[in-house]
Parts: sequence; C-alpha cells; structure tokens
Amino acid sequence: MKNPIDVDLSNKVAVVTGAGGVLCSMFAKAIARCGAKVVLLDRTLEKAQKHAEEIVSDGYTAKAFQCNVLDKETLEQVRAKVNSELGTCDILINGAGGNKPLATTTNEYYFSGDFDKSDLVTFFNLDTKSVELVFNLNFIGTLIPTQVFAPDMLNKEDASIINISSMNAFTPLTKIPAYSGAKAAISNFTQWLAVHFSKTNIRVNAIAPGFFSTKQNASLLFNPDGTPTERTGKILNSTPMGRFGEPEELIGALLFLLYKPASSFVTGVVLPVDGGFSSYSGV
Ligand code: NAD
Repeated sequence: MKNPIDVDLSNKVAVVTGAGGVLCSMFAKAIARCGAKVVLLDRTLEKAQKHAEEIVSDGYTAKAFQCNVLDKETLEQVRAKVNSELGTCDILINGAGGNKPLATTTNEYYFSGDFDKSDLVTFFNLDTKSVELVFNLNFIGTLIPTQVFAPDMLNKEDASIINISSMNAFTPLTKIPAYSGAKAAISNFTQWLAVHFSKTNIRVNAIAPGFFSTKQNASLLFNPDGTPTERTGKILNSTPMGRFGEPEELIGALLFLLYKPASSFVTGVVLPVDGGFSSYSGV
C-alpha cells in the first residue's frame, strides 16, 4: 500500500497504542512508510507483534511491546526500552479505546413500561463497573501514556500527540452513553493539552473517525444477505456522502497533522473524517 501523501518522518520515533487493532495498525504502517521507527503497543502482544513483523518485512523499522494503557508502571518500563533501543519518543498516537457491551443499552429509547422488563439493559440498570471501564480505557488510557511519553518530547523542535475521538464526541449516538461521554472527554482533553503544551513545541490534535466498514464490523453493519441492517441505513442516511469510509481515508488526515511543515500552526483541533456526518442535522 502507498500513502496518499508523501511525508518525511525519518529520524522520528512514533509510539502507537492499540496498535494491534484495525485502525492503529494501519496508522503504524503508514507512519513507518514515512521513515519513522514505530513502536506498536497493545494489551495483546501477538496482535502488535504480527503487524510489527509485517512492517519489518516491508523494510521499515518497528518493535512491538505488550502493555496495558492503564498501567503506568509497565508503560514506564516500555518507555525505558524504547529509549534505549530506538531513541526518545517524538510522536504518540493514543489509539487504544473502545466500548463494552454491558455499558450499552438494549434499546435506543426508553418507554415507561420498560422498568419491569428485566431482560433489557436500560439506563437504570447499566452496569456502572462497565461504564467505569469504558471511561478509564478511553480517557485515562490516553492520559497515562501521555504522562509517560510526553516527557521525551518536551522542547524538541517537532513533537506531536494524536488522540482518537469519535462522532460520539460531537453528538452522542444512542445506546452507548459511556463511550460517547469518554470520547467527548477526549476531544476536550485534546484542547486542554494543546494549550498546556503550547510553550513546549508539542502539538496535540485529534482525529474523529466517522463510520468505516471493515471486516471486523461487517456482521454488525450488514445482514447475511448483504442488505444493510436498520442501524446501517440510519448511518448512511446521516452521512451526506452516502457511504462508509474506507479506513485508508484516515491516513491523509493523520499525516497532515503529524507533518510539521504542513500543520505547524495547527494544535487543539479535532479533525472529523466522516463524509459530512458531524455537519449534517438530518434535514
Ligand atoms: P480495535 O478494537 O480494532 O483496536 C483497539 C486495540 O486496543 C485492540 O488491539 C486492543 O487489544 C487494544 N486495547 C484495548 N484495551 C487496551 C489496553 N487497556 N491497553 C492496551 N491496548 C488495549 O479498535 P479500532 O476500531 O482500531 O479503534 C481504534 C481507536 O479508534 C479506538 O480509540 C476507537 O475508539 C476509535 N474509533 C474507532 C472507530 C471505528 O470505526 N473503528 C470510529 C471512531 C473511533
């Protein structure tokens, strides 16, 4: 695969959390193609390892490490290894994130009769532990890796942090209040950090992906006969471009934000890549 724009990130060390997953493994590969040495971090080492091996077999530099983004001590150990094996961190992509089924309501709307239906997950019996897990994974799981790796970046000429927000941050999607709230916190935190680090040459921005069709979510988006599910129909009707994005369409936004000659005065933005979803009121 080729990047949509040519960007030189050689001599940079880029740390990517959640790099065993769909989007961040792709980000890691795109950054490696720009010449950066890429560190792939994931809770499941084998997933990160597999992508690191692919990067290396394409002739670029990558290393994988296991870590939980909520475990500061392990992250500190990983940082020490990265520093000694590859150098100090210039780029941090905070990609680990996601939702949990128990933090998800069964239905979009609550009706008064639902109170007695014990088979439903409603607002009233949402599992608070799961809500907390979702908040922690998405928000604290961005904050801690930043606390650990940003000290490497202080007062470099060019350093950059990218957080991953979501459409939920602009307007919450039904059913997933914890994930929506956590991603809203990520957008807000991106602005806060951008201001906080503005005197240190660290730029902090976020990407807010719209809806992407991947192998992993195909069964949620489409019925076995290939027709769209009801939720897919709603997504497509709410996306002015009338289609899902291809994950690769996120790469241009990522490289623009990372490449200082293109975005040297850009910090604190949450860039939607969404076919117009976040701009459309539905009317
Ligand atoms: P994914 O589930 O494919 O990947 C997430 C990765 O994070 C997994 O490999 C998982 O093992 C890892 N992970 C989970 N918990 C971790 C932890 N505690 N410590 C370290 N690693 C951990 O998800 P994805 O679709 O690639 O999403 C990546 C990011 O983009 C997430 O923040 C997600 O919320 C966000 N996002 C995705 C979409 C989308 O359409 N896929 C849309 C908007 C936002």
